[in-house]
Amino acid sequence: MKNKVFFSKPLSDIKEIKSNFFKDNNKLYKQAITWNKIYSRQKKRKKCINCNKNLPSYDFRSHYVKYKLCNFCGHLNGLYQETDKFYQMMYVSNKGNKFSKFYTYEFNSRVKKIYHPKLNFINKVIPSVKSILDIGCGAGHFLKACEEQGLKAIGYDVNKTSVNYGSKLLKKNKIYHFDKNDFFKKIETSTSQIITMFGVVEHLQKPNKVFEAFNKSKSKYLVISVPTFSLTVLLEHVFKNVYPRQLGGVHTHLYSDKSLKFIFKKYNLKTAGEWWFGTDIMDLRRSILSSVPKNKKFSKIVNEYFHDITDSLQNAIDVKKLSSEAHLIVKK
Ligand SMILES: [Zn+2]
Repeated sequence: MKNKVFFSKPLSDIKEIKSNFFKDNNKLYKQAITWNKIYSRQKKRKKCINCNKNLPSYDFRSHYVKYKLCNFCGHLNGLYQETDKFYQMMYVSNKGNKFSKFYTYEFNSRVKKIYHPKLNFINKVIPSVKSILDIGCGAGHFLKACEEQGLKAIGYDVNKTSVNYGSKLLKKNKIYHFDKNDFFKKIETSTSQIITMFGVVEHLQKPNKVFEAFNKSKSKYLVISVPTFSLTVLLEHVFKNVYPRQLGGVHTHLYSDKSLKFIFKKYNLKTAGEWWFGTDIMDLRRSILSSVPKNKKFSKIVNEYFHDITDSLQNAIDVKKLSSEAHLIVKK
């Protein structure tokens, strides 16, 4: 089976969904800074979270956090550890509920515009999709998309609020709560044809254990999406008063084409499919508009300027695999 690679996705699809990044810049910015300050008080990270080689110094400091691009594998590391305390605060405690609310905003619209395309990508790569286990399923957006396409899938999440919320919206597919300590066991004991983890791997204290656990399972394919080192990261470093949605807050490290290749090779995994697309150009427009005092006429000029060029500029970044997100399908 040849690796099937896809690029780009029309940004108009998600413009409405992400519009709260514009409207709520100050609120989101403050939240990210609070999380960054807590993260920067955790124990120092000495080795690359991806390849485990030493990280001797740092390259830049963005919004209170020091970062190092690993010389060996090309992974971008925040130089502090995701300690138990940090993890607890982000995902399980009351503060974590805020995080889950953030993602359950506009459920149906997200299912249609974000999660159906994910399933379509899987269908294009894997010839006959039979059963799916969705780990870290949040409120079950992907399970809903599967349900709407007549596909059986079950999901697990550590956040009870998300699980309760999602259970009410699903008709056939089921969603369950599981404990953080059962996370890798759930992957290891999987008998589903496919395991999916969208926006999950990068949030784990030991992300590499996902690949180790997948190798022990009976599942054939692993589908992940991860945030990647991209133009948005550079913009965030320069536009200091704009909400950093890519690096910082819940994202303490970022993958790259090179660091993904490294980790798949280490665990003997073959890439069956890739889909690279990002929101870098939308982030550029947002950075410009959020950096000047509100002025309707200027906003109109900026929006009109970007209107016809956003997708083509983004495509130029995507095809080089330098976009802000990557979807990958690997098999044993
Ligand atoms: Zn590394």
